[in-house]
Amino acid sequence: MIKEAVILGAGLGSRLKEKTVAMPKGFLELGGKAIVEWSVQKLLACGVERVIIGTGHCHEYYDELAKKYPAVKTVFNAGFASAGSMGTLAVCAPCVTADFFLLESDLIYDAAGLFVLDNESRKNVVLASGATYSGDEVYLEAPEGALRALSKNKNELRSVDGEFTGISRLTPVFLQKLCVYARDNRNTMPKLEYESAIAAVSRKAPHDFPVYVRKIENYAWREIDDAYHLQTAEQDVLPRIIENEECRSVRREVLLNPGPATTSDSVKYAQVCADICPRENEFGDVMAWICDELTLLAADKAAYETVIFGGSGTAADESMISSCVPDDGRLIVINNGSYGERLAKIASVYKLRHTVFESSAYEALDIEKLEYEFKTGRYTHLGIVYHETTTGLLNRIDQIGPLAKKYNIVTIVDAVSAYAGIPMDLEKLGIDFMASTSNKNIQGVAGIGFVICKKNELEKTGAIPMRNYYLNLYDQYAYFLKNRQTRFTPPVQTLYALRQAILETRQETVEGRYARYSECWHILVSAIKKYNLKMLVKEKDQSRLITSIMDPETPHYSFDALHDYACKSGFTIYPGKLGNINTFRIANIGAIQPSEMRRFAELLGGYLESIGWR
Ligand code: PLP
Ligand code: MG
Ligand code: MG
Repeated sequence: MIKEAVILGAGLGSRLKEKTVAMPKGFLELGGKAIVEWSVQKLLACGVERVIIGTGHCHEYYDELAKKYPAVKTVFNAGFASAGSMGTLAVCAPCVTADFFLLESDLIYDAAGLFVLDNESRKNVVLASGATYSGDEVYLEAPEGALRALSKNKNELRSVDGEFTGISRLTPVFLQKLCVYARDNRNTMPKLEYESAIAAVSRKAPHDFPVYVRKIENYAWREIDDAYHLQTAEQDVLPRIIENEECRSVRREVLLNPGPATTSDSVKYAQVCADICPRENEFGDVMAWICDELTLLAADKAAYETVIFGGSGTAADESMISSCVPDDGRLIVINNGSYGERLAKIASVYKLRHTVFESSAYEALDIEKLEYEFKTGRYTHLGIVYHETTTGLLNRIDQIGPLAKKYNIVTIVDAVSAYAGIPMDLEKLGIDFMASTSNKNIQGVAGIGFVICKKNELEKTGAIPMRNYYLNLYDQYAYFLKNRQTRFTPPVQTLYALRQAILETRQETVEGRYARYSECWHILVSAIKKYNLKMLVKEKDQSRLITSIMDPETPHYSFDALHDYACKSGFTIYPGKLGNINTFRIANIGAIQPSEMRRFAELLGGYLESIGWR
């Protein structure tokens, strides 16, 4: 898996004349977007964690781009005006830590090229195409698929076996060789281009540093060096790229149920990867990275640790409850919805000493009354749901967590439907154990439950005799710490999807995600009001992630009919979950856009009209 990329963007682009006097070539717009931004988005969608851009001419454009994409880091080549592209690559080299994609900034290309290079088992590979007749071709001589020479002049080559696209994958070791070659030849070749350096290094040591050519005959790509390239890119190449990519897009289903949530195509595609034994170091690194990043979204890595299980959210809940309360402890479980009830059920299945604190499923919990219980000194542990998905009721963890800490109570929080959708800082909230899952606000696919644990509290649970096995939190933690493996078979592809989902969360940020979710919720709430529908929970007590709506009181209403009506337009909605009150629920989590919620709101209006409600 390739995790890094370098884009060479320092050049003057002088052949584009006035278009690039005050702007780098990468910022030429095609289809309403800067070409380098297309490129960055494609790299991120294929799982790249860091994009290093070597800048020079008008570097401030790239520095602005880096503000929009936290994964982008710019490196300035002060000598850009007098150096060739190899000079810029050399300036980027110290930032490269792993196998990387190397691209030029003036390219548009089909993302399939990245997929192809990513799936290469050979280490240093340049991507080639058949003839483009673009007018500035770099031809490759690669008789057996190994690069022997390249030139803009066909006559200098013994055979023409393809055109260089400006997209490669290289190792850091090979990059070092390139830098040494450039340094050794600085005086004779001050304007060395990186592709010439690649050819020279591999020619000098074809056995130690072979460079392979991977050719896609009809590959859609264009380098934009002059006005003619720009014109053909716009008229011919970009439409082909867009068509190819559309052919690979997955049918859109907008899930307005509270998880599994809608995922991006890039998350879905992240599951399509080479088979790997999960006991390989490479996979251990992926899991360790995932655990660290899950922690970082809500806590400090020095104090908290994430433990993962193959399983759903309930597995994570069960793991916490059954692993953390010692026999002589006593748990108080808040029941103000089905998931609180489930925590209590788990406690009773494991025969833990516990008390259930009952509270309304749709009204804010009475914190004074809860403190009264805390004051009795009977409880060592609290079990509570952060966001009761049953109704959309948000428990005030910001008050309850610190209150529990005041009474020295260990807090066990089901944040299955809150984590990564609501900004949180576990330390500030006084949370010791927090469960969530891969398929809700983190926007991955279903199959992983995880618990983010305060390390010192987790360590203490090691002394509790095991009353569970697969779900034992401490055992899973200790084994992973020692072996960088899970005890049992992990859901490999699901974890790759989770990795991609985390990258996309880092790009959006949890704050940004909460803002998007809130915007969708506001759209829904205004529609509810406009249609004279009622909500079960007061707005101020809602999570803004799911809304319980009272069924319209007319005999013509049927949830199933509304469900089927919405389904026809690609929306999936969810029934209510309260026994005695008739509601349906609309969630607004996942990779959905405000424009889609607007469409749904109109659709709901259409249905209500059809039953004579409006
Ligand atoms: N806890 C809460 C708050 C939930 O919303 C859910 C699922 O919706 C769960 C637990 C259970 O998760 P799963 O269905 O993945 O076991
Ligand atoms: Mg060129
Ligand atoms: Mg160029």
